[in-house]
Amino acid sequence: MNTRHGFRIFTVRGIPIRIHFTFLLVLPFLAWAFGQRFADAARLAGVPADALSGPPWAWGLLVAVALFASVLVHELAHSLYALSHGGKVRSITLLMLGGVSELTEAPQRPAQEAWMALAGPATSLAIGAACYGLLRATAGAGGFDARFALFYLGQLNVVLGVFNLLPAFPMDGGRILRAVLVRSRGHARATQIAVTVGKVFAGLFALAGLFGGNFFLVIIAFFVFIGAEGEQHAVLSRAVLGELRVAELMASQPAVVAPGDTLYAVGERMIHEKRLYFPVADQGRLLGLLTLDAVERVQLDDRKVTPAGKVMGPAATIAAGDRVADVLRVLAEQRTPVLAVVDQDRLVGTVSRFDVVRGLRLQELLASQHPVAGLAPGGRSA
Ligand SMILES: [Zn+2]
Repeated sequence: MNTRHGFRIFTVRGIPIRIHFTFLLVLPFLAWAFGQRFADAARLAGVPADALSGPPWAWGLLVAVALFASVLVHELAHSLYALSHGGKVRSITLLMLGGVSELTEAPQRPAQEAWMALAGPATSLAIGAACYGLLRATAGAGGFDARFALFYLGQLNVVLGVFNLLPAFPMDGGRILRAVLVRSRGHARATQIAVTVGKVFAGLFALAGLFGGNFFLVIIAFFVFIGAEGEQHAVLSRAVLGELRVAELMASQPAVVAPGDTLYAVGERMIHEKRLYFPVADQGRLLGLLTLDAVERVQLDDRKVTPAGKVMGPAATIAAGDRVADVLRVLAEQRTPVLAVVDQDRLVGTVSRFDVVRGLRLQELLASQHPVAGLAPGGRSA
């Protein structure tokens, strides 16, 4: 899922915590839905509804906040496990019914990946069990408000734990399944199997949601499917691209424009050279990136007097020695069509999605014609 559609709320142990917009949509809906079924909810908890203080909507709001806190604790459990086992966590994004911990470096061994995946649901189930335990221990002690809150906090966490344990990749259960399969099948094949199982579950969720009239289940099915698909591509391209370095695929000596060139002149070059962007450089020093979109945003008359340096955006960069497999990730993160390859602040080349696809195709061709060798380092193909 696209975790960039979120905004940062705070930071825990250096990990930025972000909320995805879908989560913000779910919270008010949940508050409303819970308020609607307040009397039923009270009966389920074994508490007389009229003994509870506060209006139903306030309880709904409280449940929404409890869900938020429960998902956060669940994700922190994953991330803290990863941190303590040599992983690096880039961010946590809270989505509905779960979250995504983005790792820059995952734990290396499959067993650790399985434990990391298990850490979240285990924590949720432990909180659920603690809530129910406390309820039982204090049975008949009154304090209806507290009992009601405890009951629903417990229930939310049990649902969160059980749901995430379903072997529907990319949910936690699917990750555990993959880690178990990696031993016998290898990473790529194990991912493929886990992804297939995930897609089957997505189909089942969608069917159950459509026939049961449960809109949420349909949305979850959609996210599971997209997540499974995304992971499949990431893992397969990583496996194929292997150790290939940026220097081997980049376009060296890229065409550049100067910061003083007018937008109109740059537009003319785009037309004649069939380009959608130019790095902006001053005597080899990279200053930014000017895209066709940026040129078009300026009125035609103004283009003749506006210099490129004034409307260029920042250029996302990568080093020539970095792995090609990282290019796709940086392109996606920076939302840019191209990366500038730099040595210190000197521009030495550019690399785009197209270059990565070219690399993938050539690696495949190479594997079919020379099954054991790799693309020769320095054997530039452009
Ligand atoms: Zn989880």
